Amino acid sequence: MKSEKLFNESQNFLPGGVSSPVRAFQPYPFFAKKGEGSRLWDVDGNEYLDYCLGYGPLILGHSPEKIINAVYSQMQKGTTYGVPTKKEIDLARMVVDKVPCADMVRFVNSGTEATMSAIRLARGFTGKNKIVKFEGSYHGAHDYVLVKSGSGAACLPDSPGVPEDTTKNTLSAPFNNEEYVSELIASNGSDIAAIIMEPVMANIGCIEPRKGYLKFLREITAENDILLIFDEVITGFRLSEGGAQEYYGINPDLVTMGKIIGGGFPMGAFAGSREIMEFISPCGSVYQAGTFNGNPISITAGLNTLKELDSTFYRDLNSKGKYLRDGIQGILEDNNLDFSLVGLGSMFQIYFNSKRVYDYQDAKNSDIEKFRVYFNNLLSNGVFIPPSQFECCFLSQAHQKEDLDETLEK
Ligand code: PLP
Repeated sequence: MKSEKLFNESQNFLPGGVSSPVRAFQPYPFFAKKGEGSRLWDVDGNEYLDYCLGYGPLILGHSPEKIINAVYSQMQKGTTYGVPTKKEIDLARMVVDKVPCADMVRFVNSGTEATMSAIRLARGFTGKNKIVKFEGSYHGAHDYVLVKSGSGAACLPDSPGVPEDTTKNTLSAPFNNEEYVSELIASNGSDIAAIIMEPVMANIGCIEPRKGYLKFLREITAENDILLIFDEVITGFRLSEGGAQEYYGINPDLVTMGKIIGGGFPMGAFAGSREIMEFISPCGSVYQAGTFNGNPISITAGLNTLKELDSTFYRDLNSKGKYLRDGIQGILEDNNLDFSLVGLGSMFQIYFNSKRVYDYQDAKNSDIEKFRVYFNNLLSNGVFIPPSQFECCFLSQAHQKEDLDETLEK
């Protein structure tokens, strides 16, 4: 087994054996050889139908020809890091056209950097310090809101190494609980710079906001001079062209983006009204800069990806999503598996016993075992979903109806 050998070797040099987030396979991660369309192949020669898509960026599937050609052509013209290009303006215009709250946008290198920069901007703009996040949400690997984050970190206690003032300045609220937020604002309102949220809580199970919840947050933040930040690193350009804010019809003050916006290359972005965005350097005083910001490779890939996204694209993608979700739900029910499937559009998550992620460690061993068996069955059938029950599964344009039928064993 080449994967096993590679994993044993990698452990000498890489903590946890690999740097990729998909590292939790039992007994070792598989090592990818290539990806094409909806499929992945590992070094052992196994073929997988991929519902992970590199944790979401590959909405057109693996190695789409249009993107390869556009990036290749850009690379032949040079990488020209640190020097602006017209393509950056073209992509900015496209983002502003598609995303309702965006008058201006700044391109950065990852979702983490986007949320970190948006939080710094919110603090600079409001002159206040505290940030409210929701329990189990994930906003990236930076200190500001890492504390008891969702995703993989949800199972862990607060990460050591996070400065004490971060812990002090990060307030956590349960999701979909209006009363809690009202009380938090009543007691800390004058210190709260922003509420940051995943509008759909993708990192703890694709949980949607309750009807009226986003409107409630929009109103209470506006009344209290608190900025509302939608972290749309997952939902942006996935739920619809304009992301969750368009889907639910509620505009935040700032939005963060990642994954899809880079067209398969590393990039993130944050955007908002002109009034707020002009606080960023060099026109304003809130520092934000980076060697690779606006680099023409990611910009080219992003631009050519976003060009593909229109209402027909989402109609097709979301109907495939519904077909797959209904099918998996049927399999779970037919087999009396105590799992739920939660999702919308082209994303979904399977989780067990209706348990929230951070209850995972308390779950009975038999539940965990049952999940493992179910997951390993999927994997041995050649279906690759994320290796833990609390990660989102995604669909891409490259997934064909035959792929979905193969997954559903139809
Ligand atoms: N915000 C959300 C909602 C995410 O899901 C993620 C990553 O999955 C991030 C931020 C961080 O993005 P990145 O991993 O590109 O730094």
